[in-house]
Amino acid sequence: MVKETKYYDLLGVKPDASDAELKKAYRKLALKYHPDKNPNEGEKFKQISQAYEVLADPKKREIYDKGGEEGIKTGGAGEFHNPMDIFDMLFGGGGRRRGPNKGKDVVHQLSVSLEDLYNGATRKLALQKNVICNKCEGRGGKKGAVEQCTTCKGTGMQVHVQRLGIGMVQQIQTVCQNCRGQGEKINAKDLCKQCSGKKVVRERKILEVHIDKGMKDGQQVRFTGEGDQEPGLEPGDIIIILEQKDHPKFKRQSHDLIMNMDLELVEALCGFKKSIETLDKRILVISSLPGEVVKPGDLKCIPNEGMPAHRNPFEKGLLIIKFDVKFPKPGIIPHEKLQKVEHLLPPREEVIIPDHAEECDLVEFDPHLHGSAHHSRGEAYDSDDEDAHHGHGPGVQCASH
Ligand SMILES: [Zn+2]
Ligand SMILES: [Zn+2]
Repeated sequence: MVKETKYYDLLGVKPDASDAELKKAYRKLALKYHPDKNPNEGEKFKQISQAYEVLADPKKREIYDKGGEEGIKTGGAGEFHNPMDIFDMLFGGGGRRRGPNKGKDVVHQLSVSLEDLYNGATRKLALQKNVICNKCEGRGGKKGAVEQCTTCKGTGMQVHVQRLGIGMVQQIQTVCQNCRGQGEKINAKDLCKQCSGKKVVRERKILEVHIDKGMKDGQQVRFTGEGDQEPGLEPGDIIIILEQKDHPKFKRQSHDLIMNMDLELVEALCGFKKSIETLDKRILVISSLPGEVVKPGDLKCIPNEGMPAHRNPFEKGLLIIKFDVKFPKPGIIPHEKLQKVEHLLPPREEVIIPDHAEECDLVEFDPHLHGSAHHSRGEAYDSDDEDAHHGHGPGVQCASH
């Protein structure tokens, strides 16, 4: 049991979430609330980054699970990194300026299907980005019309001196009002008509994202130099992060695919033949060995029918099949025919019942109804030891105990 769930709630996961689930939840929220996309959600971005910082670290997560937020603060783990650093840790520098002459990297998420990752795919992604205005070549106005701002002399900053008392002054630096920190001015009549002096224009750009066979959920595809253009800066990169949608049939686990298959009781006992449609629409046929009996929960696999390895797509993982057996509903086998079934099954073990035994009613067990009435939470299933002492079978309790 965890003391509190706030950090888990912030990321929208359950307290037993795996590292991969935490990472996925954080990635999704961080991209949504990143200041570049959502400038008004800075606080939210900070909160989810802090929650992730704690939960992604096994030691800090243990402290939090035991002591909650208070435990993190008093346990010496309460110093958080800059939320941007947490973001960078996961996205490899996405969203920040790298070096003084490089523009920001921009991160986008692209939802893909498991079929896309199996077969490979090309997806077109429409984006808006800033490009240098071609009319004024990024000057913002006519040639020679750009003048140094006279107020700040080109620095973009203004210094005000404030007297606090005799001999005491304070210097306050503010962004130059006249040029809005640009350090230069263009007369209104000379402003570039196309960009209105902004030097850049918004342009729609179509990116072709090539999804290679075997790529993974969370994998990045980088478009070098495709970020926003800005005069005097080398443009940053566009980073596309793949997000795999859940598949109705297959679950991916590293290079393997896992699927469930239901068998009728007759198939489990007497053999079966079944078909499976693969992610590239081939049909595989599987059948049981003669005389084989399949139990609920049995696992079998087909080699080389899992996910292809990235950059080595002829190498594939396993297709793992988890079997479940559907037992016939009561009444499906007519009462008079049950004897025939019994005749075919291995014989029962003989049960000896002593004379002083008490007859009990066996009723359906509902953990919500029965569990909490006599036991406190969590104890309902821990009574195996007790049962063993009294000689009851596991999980069956006599009503007139
Ligand atoms: Zn100025
Ligand atoms: Zn222009």
